[in-house]
Amino acid sequence: MKILVVEDEPSLRELIQRSLEKERYVVEVADSFLSGMRKLEDYTYDCILLDIMLPDGDGLSLLENIKRMGKKECVIIISAKDSLEDKVAGLDLGADDYLAKPFHIAELSARVKSVIRRHHHQGAACVEIGNVRIHTDKYQVEVEGTPLDLNKKEYDILLYFANRPGRLVDKALLAESVWGDHIDQVDNFDFVYAQIKNLRKKLSAGRASVEIKSVYKFGYKLVVE
Ligand code: CA
Repeated sequence: MKILVVEDEPSLRELIQRSLEKERYVVEVADSFLSGMRKLEDYTYDCILLDIMLPDGDGLSLLENIKRMGKKECVIIISAKDSLEDKVAGLDLGADDYLAKPFHIAELSARVKSVIRRHHHQGAACVEIGNVRIHTDKYQVEVEGTPLDLNKKEYDILLYFANRPGRLVDKALLAESVWGDHIDQVDNFDFVYAQIKNLRKKLSAGRASVEIKSVYKFGYKLVVE
């Protein structure tokens, strides 16, 4: 799961980044309206944390742009302007949640978890695909009750597929979501293939009823047998 933090105050931005990285999210940051816009034009996220008062613009306009671009990211507004009008305006523009500063980092992390869960898993803490069960709150995977031991990347890849059942997955988008925005600088995606190969082996050895199939020249697809 990849999160974009748009926040101009360096100490808060770094605190949020560090805390969410500890929670196993891939975290990207932007320190201004403009850098936030650039990130949003080039990349896709699972959740955006959006400050309202930015040095070169208004976070609410950024939110308008996100919606106008047809982007599906969930958005949590984090704002010092704890006025009812801002909160209402933000929610009216389609923000999923609103958190007034100062907030406890544990609360932010709980809100992020909750909006992502609502967005991707219809509110459930558990995603099921075939006979595979992914416990997103504990980062655990089991096949018919037997735990499947996956590394962090393998887990993130499996969850990415499970959230897009039956859909063709572009390997560049998959890489960007699991490794981060910098991945578009790489020459090839062999490292993605290496992780997928190991994940396939583990799924098959664990008798999972799902399989990651390669789609020539495009990417992959998760298929339930
Ligand atoms: Ca600010």
